[in-house]
Order: sequence, then structure tokens, then C-alpha cells
Amino acid sequence: AAKDHGRNHYEFYSSSLNERLHRRMKIEQHLRKAIEYNEFVLYYQPIVDAATRRIVSMESLIRWDSQELGRVPPVEFIPIAEETGIIQKIGEWVLAEACRQNKAWQSAGLSPITVTVNLSSKQFYDPHLKELIMRILHETGLASECLELEITESTTMDVGMAMDTLRGLKELGLKIAIDDFGTGYSSFSYLKEFPIDKLKIDQSFVKDIHLNPVNAAIVDTIVTMTRHLKLQVVAEGVENEEVLDTLERCGCGLVQGYLFSMPVDGEKAKHLILSHELDDKAVLSS
Ligand code: C2E
Ligand code: MG
Ligand code: MG
Ligand code: MG
Repeated sequence: AAKDHGRNHYEFYSSSLNERLHRRMKIEQHLRKAIEYNEFVLYYQPIVDAATRRIVSMESLIRWDSQELGRVPPVEFIPIAEETGIIQKIGEWVLAEACRQNKAWQSAGLSPITVTVNLSSKQFYDPHLKELIMRILHETGLASECLELEITESTTMDVGMAMDTLRGLKELGLKIAIDDFGTGYSSFSYLKEFPIDKLKIDQSFVKDIHLNPVNAAIVDTIVTMTRHLKLQVVAEGVENEEVLDTLERCGCGLVQGYLFSMPVDGEKAKHLILSHELDDKAVLSS
């Protein structure tokens, strides 16, 4: 009986491992064709000024609707794209599409905002990245101040290499944010030295800030630090009014989360930007 038991376990694990390998292979296989088949879309989520409630930027977030696999979330396919090198092509597409879209909003008469693009480590350390961004800005006609790059803390692990790359990118006039701040390797000395503009506090600290005094203390400390370092700060994952109230009391300048909007397609994003402008005019004329 013990033997049977062991055998069942073996079969259970081997089949689920098989399934996972199979899924991974399928994703890799279809990912290679996804650009050509037009299966990617960029969604946008507002980043809002807590004091004025105006949208100051839109974070671009990739969506993949695969003919074969249906919608595959970025947390599942981005790591595979990184490991296989497919991320270079995807990243290039994302940068070009985000810049094109932001320019199109401006050409439609909307007040200029920034568009943010998430970069994987592989992209960030690609020696051709700067050249690529210059080309895309030139081709789309977007001003470099209207583009912001988001990199995670783990990307900056190699401090020397990160410093050189950041300096090179900053020469273009764009902005740089550290994403998911607080979850990775962090050193206060690099924060002081890196030419960055913004920290995005990871949503794991923000979600329950109204109920969790430890998280409230962490967020408050990060906000205070950014004030001293003259960095902008965004709280990610703001889902309700209690969280927003707590963040405002901390003096957190910028907020992002489902409370304001889910990520939406470019057309809906345009209406979000427009409706905030109308709100504003209503305030001015009243
Ligand atoms: P991220 O850059 O930290 O993006 C935030 C994620 O949190 C997004 O998930 C967003 O939809 C979600 N989110 C926003 N507000 C809330 C909220 O109030 N509550 C909760 N629970 N979640 C919220 P998404 O779009 O699935 O993206 C996941 C991650 O995939 C991103 O994390 C980013 O690391 C990566 N990613 C997305 N798009 C791209 C891309 O174009 N390029 C690269 N390299 N990575 C990307
Ligand atoms: Mg991000
Ligand atoms: Mg994040
Ligand atoms: Mg994240």
C-alpha cells in the first residue's frame, strides 16, 4: 500500500510538472508569432495627483490575447519572454506603441501627460536601448519629457552598470522611476546617487495601510525620504477611500489603483483624460 501511495504521488507530481512544461512551451511558441499576428495591446492606467485629482501620467501595461491560448497575463509571459530573448522585440513594440499613443492624445488636443513604460532588466542593459528610444521619439514626434521608464529595484542590483545606463538615458531628457519599491534589494547610498525622478511604492505596502500600522509606518517613512531626496513618489494599488485618506495624511503626492481606474484601452484612456479636464473646467467656472 505504501508503494502504491508513493507511486500515486509520483504520478501526480510528474503529470503536473508535465503540464507546466507544456504550457511554458506553448507560450514560448506562440509568443514568437504574437507581434506579427497583432495579438498585443497596450492598456493604460492613470497616475493621479492626490491633491488635484488630475491625471498626470498613464502607465502602459501590455495585454496579450493569443488566438491559441486566450488572454495570458504579463506576469506569466514576461518572464518567459525575458528568458528566451523575445523580450527585445516585445519591448521595442511597447515603447513605440506607448509613444505613438501619447502623441496621438496630444494631437487630438488633450493636455500633455507623461506615458510610462515598464522595462525588463534585459531591455535596460541592452546597449542599443538609448539609440532605440531616440529613434522612436524622433519617429513618433513625442517630446522626451513626456516619456518615463519604470525599472524595478532588482534591475539596479549592479550599481555601477545601472549608474552608467541611467546617466546615458537621462541625457535624452526622459524620466525614470523605480517600480515596486521596497520589495527588492535596496541601499540608501544608491538612491542618493542615481539620477532617478520617482519611486513607486509597491502595492503590498499600500493595500491595507489603513489597517496595518507597520505598513503605514513603512509608507510614511518612504514618503518622508522622497521629500528629503527631492524625488516624486507614487503609491500603487490604491483600492479604496480609506487607503487614499491615509496616504494623503502621509503627504503622498501621487496615487494609482483600481479606486481611480483599472487599466483600460487607449480609447477609454483618452476619455478618462478628457473627463478630468472637463471636471477641471467645471471647477474653474463655478
Ligand atoms: P507593475 O508595473 O508593478 O504594474 C502594476 C500591476 O498592478 C498591473 O498588473 C496593474 O494592472 C495592477 N494594479 C493596478 N492597480 C491595482 C490595484 O488597485 N489593485 C491590484 N490588486 N492590482 C492593481 P499587470 O498589468 O497584470 O502587470 C503586472 C506586471 O507585469 C507589471 O507590474 C510589470 O512588472 C509587468 N508588465 C506589464 N506590462 C509590461 C510591459 O509592457 N513590459 C514589461 N517589461 N513588463 C510589463
Ligand atoms: Mg510598473
Ligand atoms: Mg509596480
Ligand atoms: Mg509589480
